[in-house]
Amino acid sequence: MVALAEIRRHRTHAVRVGTVTIGGGAPIVVQSMTNTDTADPDATTEQIVELARAGSEIVRITVNNEAAARAVPIIRDRLDLMGFRELPLVGDFHYNGHRLLAEVPELGRCLAKLRINPGNVGFGDKRDRQFEQMIEAALRHDRPVRIGVNWGSLDQNLAARLMDANAARPDPQPAEFVLREALVRSALESAAHAERIGLPADRIVISAKVSRVQDMVAVYRELARRSSYALHLGLTEAGMGVKGIVATTAALSLLLQEGIGDTIRCSLTPAPGEPRTLEVQVCQQILQSLGLRSFTPQVAACPGCGRTTSTFFQELAADIQGWLAAQMPVWKTRYPGVENLNVAVMGCIVNGPGESKHADIGISLPGTGESPAAPVFVDGKKVATLRGERIAQEFRAMVEDYVERRFGRRDAARREPREGAVAPR
Ligand code: SF4
Repeated sequence: MVALAEIRRHRTHAVRVGTVTIGGGAPIVVQSMTNTDTADPDATTEQIVELARAGSEIVRITVNNEAAARAVPIIRDRLDLMGFRELPLVGDFHYNGHRLLAEVPELGRCLAKLRINPGNVGFGDKRDRQFEQMIEAALRHDRPVRIGVNWGSLDQNLAARLMDANAARPDPQPAEFVLREALVRSALESAAHAERIGLPADRIVISAKVSRVQDMVAVYRELARRSSYALHLGLTEAGMGVKGIVATTAALSLLLQEGIGDTIRCSLTPAPGEPRTLEVQVCQQILQSLGLRSFTPQVAACPGCGRTTSTFFQELAADIQGWLAAQMPVWKTRYPGVENLNVAVMGCIVNGPGESKHADIGISLPGTGESPAAPVFVDGKKVATLRGERIAQEFRAMVEDYVERRFGRRDAARREPREGAVAPR
């Protein structure tokens, strides 16, 4: 018998970010980042709300100048008034964070976490002093910090030192290995520096973002091997569309499967007009596909082939998927656990009945030349055969009834079945 794959989570410190816990075995947290001008509180609040409604549990915003810093308290107040009091905001700082946090006293209070890039904290001899000022601001406001190093802004002094040392070795390593090591060391040495200043390990999250999958996997494996800091995973500059989604999914999945990673972000470049929320959906789908968390009912649909000459089953699969997503804002409070629901929509008799039996509720549509009947399976048993023009509506009604019976509260369980619905067993 083949054993189930088991994911053993790498042990990390639990870091409290407002109401959310990152690490320490807590569920892996989905994050996102706005791309509005933070100095525009209307646009930024609107996008934060969109991301939160899509399921982002932490939202990061750029704090790049005084106008942005002064807008943060306004954004925080608006979110609180709109009912998003528990949504943590993270401030993303580069070069001038130490000054902005000092000049805008409200800023630190309104941010649940500060993100510092050690490669972009300051130049020359100001670097250490400004890094210390950022950590002191975090201590003053009792906030955790993400030390986020990035391939594109790697500490050049450290990289040059390691390159020189490598060149002097009798067996020099390839340059990319040295740069990976520089990234890991930059993150770990900066975290150790923050601890020496007084920031405890359970107030530190680390990330080391690169844009190539194999680099990312190698770097995070090393971070996990050499530390117990909570880890934020993300493939930086993932790109657009299919490339960005697939590259991110590949990188994150390899690491998550090894138990590495406490919070994730998908750094997609949205196509013009595409919603920013796609990055949240991708993160959720990665976690749900790996069986690490559940967010929304899943629809299994066959790809179709020469046995399906109509697009009916594709339309039905899309219809059911869209309809389930539309129900979720209400269902997730009315039907606890409904996010674990599995629905199958299959195109013909070859795999249809078998796959439908594996789902909680599934339908096997008639393929080309098959009799125009669609058997429906509930919990592995055939319960009905649908025919005619109203197959889609009747199947939806059966799904709705199934959800109510299985996930509804006790007082809802005694309601009369809907028209066309399967009778309670
Ligand atoms: S279930 Fe039928 S229609 Fe769907 S891919 Fe398999 S053989 Fe083709």
